[in-house]
Amino acid sequence: MKKSEKNSPLLVLEDFEERHLIERELQKRTISLRFPPQLEKTFRKYHFQNTLGFIKFSLILGFLFFIGFAPLDYLVYPSSYLKLWFIRLAIGVPALLLSLMIFHRARRDEVIQATYSLAILAVGMGSILMLLTIHYDITQKYYAGLIITVYYGYVVSGMRFWYATFAGSSITAAYTATALAFFKPAPQFLATNLFFLAAANFTGMLGNFLLEVSKRKDFLQSALLSFQRRRLEEANRKLKRLSDTDALTGLANRRYLDEFLQREWQHAMRFSYPISVLMIDIDFFKNYNDGLGHQAGDRCLQRLAELLKSFERRPGDLAARFGGEEFVIVLSGTDEAGAEKIAEEIRRGVLALKISHPSSEVSAYVSVSIGGASVIPSMEGSKEELIELADRAMYRAKELGRNQIVIEQ
Ligand code: GH3
Ligand code: MG
Ligand code: MG
Repeated sequence: MKKSEKNSPLLVLEDFEERHLIERELQKRTISLRFPPQLEKTFRKYHFQNTLGFIKFSLILGFLFFIGFAPLDYLVYPSSYLKLWFIRLAIGVPALLLSLMIFHRARRDEVIQATYSLAILAVGMGSILMLLTIHYDITQKYYAGLIITVYYGYVVSGMRFWYATFAGSSITAAYTATALAFFKPAPQFLATNLFFLAAANFTGMLGNFLLEVSKRKDFLQSALLSFQRRRLEEANRKLKRLSDTDALTGLANRRYLDEFLQREWQHAMRFSYPISVLMIDIDFFKNYNDGLGHQAGDRCLQRLAELLKSFERRPGDLAARFGGEEFVIVLSGTDEAGAEKIAEEIRRGVLALKISHPSSEVSAYVSVSIGGASVIPSMEGSKEELIELADRAMYRAKELGRNQIVIEQ
């Protein structure tokens, strides 16, 4: 299995069998960010595989944003921009690299989420440290960077609710504590800043909450679709199997024989190898039915079918019920000599079943006459002709006294 296939989010859903859990969740009127444990586990796996690519992208984009503010540092704080740049790099680069490294190795959504949450928190703390460094005056607007950071975590990062809430609320709390301890603001400015930050945090939470609700709905719908697709595939497989097999003997039926022989014919033509066909017909089977009853006849057909099935020895071999009490065996890559050997094995094998046949004129037991033909397929010939040849050979075997084989030369 290729790596990309193994990591496909749809594959996560393939393994999930608890359809009733999904349906129950979809019917619920209440909104919650937690499924029953088993479903929750699958959702997290799905989320992990579905969002990892985007999360890496948004992390790198966030880093570029953070670093992208550097020119502004220079313009607004010409005396201390170097310190600001140092902080940006000292926080931004390790946060980026460490996170990417963890993302690369992580196999669980929780690890990704916690890492990203900490990265956002680190950037938030770094921003607060920058405010301290520049002897920040709370009437200035540089703290808006915190609002962007908080919002980024909620709306752009791809983080789930509790992880984003942890980062956003921690940054909000840390700014509040720092403002109270160091900035000594006039109350109206403090109130303004805190109000804006808290409002950003709250609306961010709300936005993220709604995002996660829709992510979860999407997951449930996808899981349901995956079920329906699988059920359809299973039904199709069953149908195909039914349409390919003969109900009484379980062997391939004539329809499938045609399909199979067509495929083998093309293949053998391309690679120039022989195909042999054996036509097998039970001797005096009408008598058998008349004497012992139709049900005994059916059982006899089933026992023969079982024996013939055992002659499917390679992928290119097929035992099929041709009709009534006639069977066909296709042997790909087998030449005339090989076909003759197998035909004889079958003839003896049938006798060895020792199915009593009181009204047979050739044997005490059920016997068969077998006609065989072998060709290397070419554009001139056809699979129908090959069957025809085997059929004719089988009739010759009948004429010659039954319970014998004739291979068309
Ligand atoms: P021969 O040795 O020349 O092949 O004689 P035969 O009696 O076997 O050949 P014939 O074609 O006259 O009869 C075939 C018989 O096979 C007719 C029918 O009673 C029986 N038969 C065909 N299909 C079935 C089946 O599905 N179940 C049973 N029980 N008998 C079947
Ligand atoms: Mg017949
Ligand atoms: Mg017959």
